[in-house]
Amino acid sequence: MNGNKHLFIPGPTNVPEEVRRAMNVPMEDMRAPDFGPFVTDLLTDMKKAFRMENGRVFIFPSSGTGAWESAIQNTLTAGDKVLMSRFGQFSLLWVDMAERLGLTVELCDVEWGKGVPLEDYERILKADTKHEIKAVFATQNETATGVSSDVEGVRRALDAAGHPAMLFVDGVSSIASIPFEMEKWGVDLAVSGSQKGFMLPAGLGFLAASDKALAANASNAPKMTRCYFSFEDMIKLNDTGYFPYTPATQLLRGLRTALDMILADGMEAIWARHKFHAEGVRKAVAAWDGCELVARGPEWASDTVSAIYTPEGVDARDVISGAYTKYQTSLGTGLNKLMGKAFRIGHLGSLNPVMLCGAISAAEMALLDAGAKIEPGSGVAAAQEHYRTKSA
Ligand SMILES: *Cc1c(COP(=O)(O)O)cnc(C)c1O
Repeated sequence: MNGNKHLFIPGPTNVPEEVRRAMNVPMEDMRAPDFGPFVTDLLTDMKKAFRMENGRVFIFPSSGTGAWESAIQNTLTAGDKVLMSRFGQFSLLWVDMAERLGLTVELCDVEWGKGVPLEDYERILKADTKHEIKAVFATQNETATGVSSDVEGVRRALDAAGHPAMLFVDGVSSIASIPFEMEKWGVDLAVSGSQKGFMLPAGLGFLAASDKALAANASNAPKMTRCYFSFEDMIKLNDTGYFPYTPATQLLRGLRTALDMILADGMEAIWARHKFHAEGVRKAVAAWDGCELVARGPEWASDTVSAIYTPEGVDARDVISGAYTKYQTSLGTGLNKLMGKAFRIGHLGSLNPVMLCGAISAAEMALLDAGAKIEPGSGVAAAQEHYRTKSA
C-alpha cells in the first residue's frame, strides 16, 4: 500500500502525532514520588474539559463501557427505578446494562433518528410524585445514528417537575467535541472515554461525578456490589495521586498532552470547529442524490458523526467495504437495524477540512462504485464551497 490509511470512523479517532510521541516513553514507576503530583494535576485539568469545579473525575483503565458500569454500581442498587430512552445501538446497550444490573427501567422507545424525548421525560417525571425514579439517563450523542440530544433540556424537565433524581449522561462521543456543561446543566454522572473526542487510543474510561453523586455514593442507602470500579477505593488513592491498581501510565502521559492541546485551543473553539467540520459533511450529503442523514432534522444532527442512508437499492455494506479495499478509507458501519442501510462518517477529534474532503471523496467514489446515481464530484464540491467560504 502506498500512502496512509484514512480513518473516519467515530472512534477510535485519529491520534495527533504529538500525543503518539508523548506515549512513546519507557515504563515508569507508578509509585514514584513525582507520579502523584502528575496525576493530581491531570485529574484537576480533566475537570476543565467536563466544565466542572466541584465533584471529581475518575480515570479507569477500561473503555467507556466500564465507566457506564461504575456510574450505576456506585450510586444505585438493584430494584431502583430509572428513566431511560433508546434510539440507537449505544443507548440500547446502556439500557441493556441497566437491566442486567437489576435496575427497573422505565423506557421511552424513540424512532431511530431522533433523541431524548424531552416532553415524555417531563411528563413522566411530573407524574412521579413519590420520587421513585432515582436517576434519569440521557445519551447525549447517539453515535449509531448521528443524533445529538438536548441535555440541558433534560435538566429543565427535571427542574420543571421539581424532581430530585440524579442525571446520568453518556458523553462518550460528545465530551471534548460538542458543548457539554457538567455544572451548568446539573449533570451528576458523565461518562466518556479516551478514543473519541480526547484523541487517544482506547483504554481509558472517564467518569465525572458531581458532589451530589459522590454524596449518593457515600450515603447509607444500599448500593450495588462493586469492586474494581469502586469509587471508595479510587478516591482513597486518587487523593494523593495514585491508583488502587496499576494505571496505564503511557495512556496517562498521552492524556496529559491531549489535554494540553484541548485546553490550549479552548472548549468553545473546539465546539465551533466540530460544528464547522460537520456542516461541510452535511453539505456533501445534501448534494448526493438519494442520500440523506439518519437524523430526522437539523435539530438532531450531530456535529461529531453523520449517519447517512444510502440510496434505495444501494447496500451500505458495499460502500463501506469498497471504501476500505479500493480507497484505504474506513467509514463507520450501519449498526443493528441500520446495517446495510446506512454508513457513517466520523468527524470528531483531530481533523481538518482537507482530511474531510478526502473522506467525502472516498465515500463518493465508493457510492458510485456501489451503483448510486449521484453526480460525480457533487459532494466534494459542496463541502469545498463550505470550507472555502465559511470558518469555525
Ligand atoms: C463508543 C461509545 C460507547 C462505548 O464506549 P467504549 O469505549 O467502546 O466502551 C458508549 N456510548 C457511546 C455514545 C459511544 O459512542
